[in-house]
Amino acid sequence: MTDHQHDFPIPSDYQDPAGRPVDMELLGAFIGAAYDGCTTCQDAEMTRLVTDPATTARLVELACVAIQASLGGLPRNMTDRKAPGMTSQSFRALARAGLDGRNDAMFQACAAMGVPRRREAANDAADLLVGQIAMPLGSAETDR
Ligand SMILES: [Zn+2]
Repeated sequence: MTDHQHDFPIPSDYQDPAGRPVDMELLGAFIGAAYDGCTTCQDAEMTRLVTDPATTARLVELACVAIQASLGGLPRNMTDRKAPGMTSQSFRALARAGLDGRNDAMFQACAAMGVPRRREAANDAADLLVGQIAMPLGSAETDR
């Protein structure tokens, strides 16, 4: 570990509404490091994150929610296996599983993945999520 940490205030809608065993502290530390652009911490937290299927799935889910909020839907190159684009097949597989609100299917698919594929999906999710946080995340939803 390092001599510092990244505090990312987790909005209440980051909590898992279905009560799955998501490690919120780990998720917050990971997103905080990613947001601050601290690759040292991001790598360390990533190693912990990818051994935790529920927390990895929640990260992917949050990335999908953020993309949907800003684009009005998931672009084909984030879900379709064959569409050209940068997003990894691991991320696409999870995003596809979670389409139409089938989030349980996404959590199951993530649990069935090996650590390397989870890492691939988590990397994409972090990039996407941080790109969206740079704009206010879900600002339409938090203004209540
Ligand atoms: Zn750091």
